[in-house]
Amino acid sequence: MAVHAHPDDESSKGAATTARYAAEGVEVLVVTCTGGERGSILNPSYGDAPSSPEAMAEVRREEMAGAARALGVQHRWLGFVDSGLPEGDPLPPLPEGCFALVPLEEAAAPLVELVRSFRPHVITTYDPTGGYPHPDHIMCHRISAEAFEAAGDAERYRGAGDPWQPLKLYYNHDFSLNRIQTIHDAVTGAGLESPFGDWVASRAMREIPEREVTTRIPCSDHFSARDAALVSHATQIDPAGFFFAVPRDLEVEVWPVEEYELATSHVPVSLPEDDLFAGIHPEDRP
Ligand SMILES: [Zn+2]
Repeated sequence: MAVHAHPDDESSKGAATTARYAAEGVEVLVVTCTGGERGSILNPSYGDAPSSPEAMAEVRREEMAGAARALGVQHRWLGFVDSGLPEGDPLPPLPEGCFALVPLEEAAAPLVELVRSFRPHVITTYDPTGGYPHPDHIMCHRISAEAFEAAGDAERYRGAGDPWQPLKLYYNHDFSLNRIQTIHDAVTGAGLESPFGDWVASRAMREIPEREVTTRIPCSDHFSARDAALVSHATQIDPAGFFFAVPRDLEVEVWPVEEYELATSHVPVSLPEDDLFAGIHPEDRP
């Protein structure tokens, strides 16, 4: 089960991993917390924006369905409302009723119910900082950690189904400085223009602490599925832009993996590892 904040996050974080496991016959469920209603049009070639938040949500539902097809995964919405990314100094208050303002137990309840019905062995989400400081990404972490901890406890979230204890909880780390720097160096080394120059500079300047990587999943055979899923999010992703500025053969050569941090495990593990299901007994494996 891969839990994400907005439609399109599943395509930019851990996408090829989900496509790979799905192709190998694992039941993979992507869960999206919010409808992405407050996302703006980030693709300059998209055309006119949908006329209302409702229309935007409908467009993004269709985009998400296309991405799930491209990845070969199942998909469910939790139905919360996008908090938007507050900008300015001081930051404006979050909009009333948005996902990040929902009390934790209320926000986690539908995810606990989904964990108890889908019964995942492994859950992926973001680290406690959200990976980047979007309030919905931080909230996505909070409800995932809560559901991982509580779903197996019959005393908690009564009425949300029979208890089920997932075995491993991971954080996505596809935007580490290590990855960005490595790809940047390879692109400039090949005499091409890197899309990551500003990013490397600003990232290094902000001194964001790098999280630990415990797990690298080889998945370059599924980069094409990831790319097709990204393109499906036409409001958000410019097919001539950032995500497609690195030649794929170069990316496959220098960075053929997606990375994770194992946050909690209820099975014995030996780190580093190259399989999200490592340590899970074969009979218990999906
Ligand atoms: Zn997001």
